[in-house]
Amino acid sequence: MRRHRNVKIVATLGPASNDYAMIRALHEAGADVFRLNMSHGDHAEIKARHEIIRQVEKDLNSPIAILADLQGPKLRVGVFANGEEELVPGAAFRLDLDDAEGDVNRVKLPHKEIFDALEPGAHLLVNDGKIKLRVKECGANFADCEVIVGGMISNRKGVNVPDVVLPLAALSAKDRRDLEFVCALGVDWLALSFVQRPADVDEARALAKGRAAIMSKIEKPNAVKMFDEILAVSDGIMVARGDLGVELPVQNVPPIQKQLVRKCRAAAKPVIVATQMLESMIDSPMPTRAEVSDVATAIYEGADAIMLSAESAAGSYPIEAVTTMSNVAGEVESDPTYTEIIEASRRAVRTTVADGIVAAAREIAETTDVKAICCFTQSGTTALLVSRERPRVPIIALTNYAETARRLCLSWGTNCVVTGHVDRFKDAVIEAVRAALAQELATETDMIVVTAGVPFNTPGSTNILRVAPCAERLIYAADPE
Ligand code: PGA
Ligand code: MN
Repeated sequence: MRRHRNVKIVATLGPASNDYAMIRALHEAGADVFRLNMSHGDHAEIKARHEIIRQVEKDLNSPIAILADLQGPKLRVGVFANGEEELVPGAAFRLDLDDAEGDVNRVKLPHKEIFDALEPGAHLLVNDGKIKLRVKECGANFADCEVIVGGMISNRKGVNVPDVVLPLAALSAKDRRDLEFVCALGVDWLALSFVQRPADVDEARALAKGRAAIMSKIEKPNAVKMFDEILAVSDGIMVARGDLGVELPVQNVPPIQKQLVRKCRAAAKPVIVATQMLESMIDSPMPTRAEVSDVATAIYEGADAIMLSAESAAGSYPIEAVTTMSNVAGEVESDPTYTEIIEASRRAVRTTVADGIVAAAREIAETTDVKAICCFTQSGTTALLVSRERPRVPIIALTNYAETARRLCLSWGTNCVVTGHVDRFKDAVIEAVRAALAQELATETDMIVVTAGVPFNTPGSTNILRVAPCAERLIYAADPE
């Protein structure tokens, strides 16, 4: 399934997108990656969705990445005797470990670790930040707070504690069970929610044992502070604007988004911009102008991927939402200003032979009329380096590992093809030409760039660049040697 755009689209699956027909239609409309949100849906549902995605992948012969998003240490209050209470500004409100049902004066916060970490002056945000409490006094099992911003509080509402690095395990018992379950099923990416420090990523990586690439969701102030260290140990990043805009003042989100997208590109690691991109399309077939502009901005900034959450998981117009993103991408990417911005923000620090080869490939594509850059890649690293260059011609990533092709579905501009076993450069050229012709990126009279590592089958060995006429395939094919 060749796309006529470079930015990738991630669609979250849910009740609105559960069956084969819808998942296939979403992929055909433009979804390159499907997100399974482990906060919702039991294992049987997750397994059923996983099976359908793999079936669509097989039926359309088109690699699809599956991103399993672990819930992480999400904090919630207990329950209220009346189900809900109204907190008024200036009132006192206590959080404690008492099992009794809550009232207008107190409620249980069933996370002992929080009380150890809280300090007077810290803020607690309840219900997506709508209610704001300030800690006045606290001890090992209570926090006496003042209501700063009031509102309705009800059973099991989420709590954010932005000012404090919480001594919480990055992965709850549920996360560990979910991680093992999805890795055994076979997913390509694991997203970690509420990452606070690099060690959180290391912990997940140790449990994943190479079965999935690790994406850190940046949604805590401390993750922003420690971003360079977290990026260094992650395979990809999600700018998780939903919780980030609760944990930090909402106006801090756009500059953070810009900075993170740039750093990810410099590090050649894919970055997703997520949450509320087309929020109004949950109930409407038309987006707002501001939403269209937000999607466009993420693309202009150079994001690898843009994401739909409830729009595709629970909304009434999942296909229209994907189509909208795809249409916006088409317009942005054909704007000469886009090319200018993307090329002016190329900041690669080049240190390896592979870095040099991919930069040369991109320069050749800018100088002459080659139709595609075809790169052979085992681990995917060379394809990530080509993607970072943001060349003007399409990228074809050829690999004999289905896992590599799937992981790359998240990266800007990569068209992934799984090849048979290749061990001579001649065969590599034949495979590359075949892929370029099959994807209708080139004809027999065109030229393509082919990069590979010789000897073959040694990861990280990219050392050859060849500008090949597509007609060469015929010469080689006629030659039995
Ligand atoms: P969520 O993460 O949808 O799992 O909360 C994304 C975000 O917070 O933006
Ligand atoms: Mn979140």
